[in-house]
Amino acid sequence: QNQLLIARLDALAHTDPMTETANRRAMENVLESAIQQKKTFTVIMLDVDYFKRYNDSYGHQAGDDCLTRVAQVLKQSVRTPEDVVSRYGGEEFVVILFDCPEKLATQVAARIQESLRTAAIAHEASTVSEYVTVSMGIAGFAPGMSASQIIAQADAALYRAKEAGRNRWLS
Ligand code: GH3
Ligand code: MG
Ligand code: MG
Repeated sequence: QNQLLIARLDALAHTDPMTETANRRAMENVLESAIQQKKTFTVIMLDVDYFKRYNDSYGHQAGDDCLTRVAQVLKQSVRTPEDVVSRYGGEEFVVILFDCPEKLATQVAARIQESLRTAAIAHEASTVSEYVTVSMGIAGFAPGMSASQIIAQADAALYRAKEAGRNRWLS
């Protein structure tokens, strides 16, 4: 039990300074511990839609501010402190939802989409919306899966969400 707690504290300590979310390594530690502790959880991997165009339109500093606002939306859309929001890299985030079946995770994804719409961060170069949107891939943990397998599954679902038109989630 302590190991999961330590990993969660580790996530707090090992943050990405810009977005004030857990960094990738800390997130991976949480995943490993959760698997070891036989916790049930669901992972959402998110990627900002047409973010290269956002930088091209508004500049890199505005891009950084945008990522910080997206991170805020994510943090406000999950349960604290048990759930983990992390910056996986660049403009990609991973959210770990504990004791959350996949069906409930789709409700969290809907909440994220709705909150981003309310945040209404202008994105003039996006072709899916006038505001900043994300695409999401959802993967529920099943016994026997490794941390990297669940991340790969979420990433594959995210890829399909992009292909299907962006600004949506798939599992
Ligand atoms: P897609 O909808 O397919 O995800 O398109 P995209 O443009 O978002 O994806 P792509 O991978 O082509 O571009 C991602 C961009 O994100 C490129 C990179 O410059 C930008 N980026 C990554 N990290 C940061 C960051 O920390 N700050 C800023 N401002 N931009 C970043
Ligand atoms: Mg990306
Ligand atoms: Mg992107």
